[in-house]
Amino acid sequence: MNCIHCDRPAHSVCRFCGRAVCREHIQTLPHIEALYQNEKGVQTALVVADAVYCGLCHPKEDPVELPQLK
Ligand SMILES: [Zn+2]
Ligand SMILES: [Zn+2]
Repeated sequence: MNCIHCDRPAHSVCRFCGRAVCREHIQTLPHIEALYQNEKGVQTALVVADAVYCGLCHPKEDPVELPQLK
């Protein structure tokens, strides 16, 4: 598989969409691997801080803030 940006051999794959990226074009984003609720009812998340991101896709699986919903 080649890099989606430059068409050279890719080193990694976007954690969010599966596009391939080379070392030069790799980006990172926090990725929530799993959500848990502890015994006190508090939501906690297992987060990978630097998951591979292609820079092109728009991940929607992570919770996003919606400031317009007040
Ligand atoms: Zn590249
Ligand atoms: Zn992507």
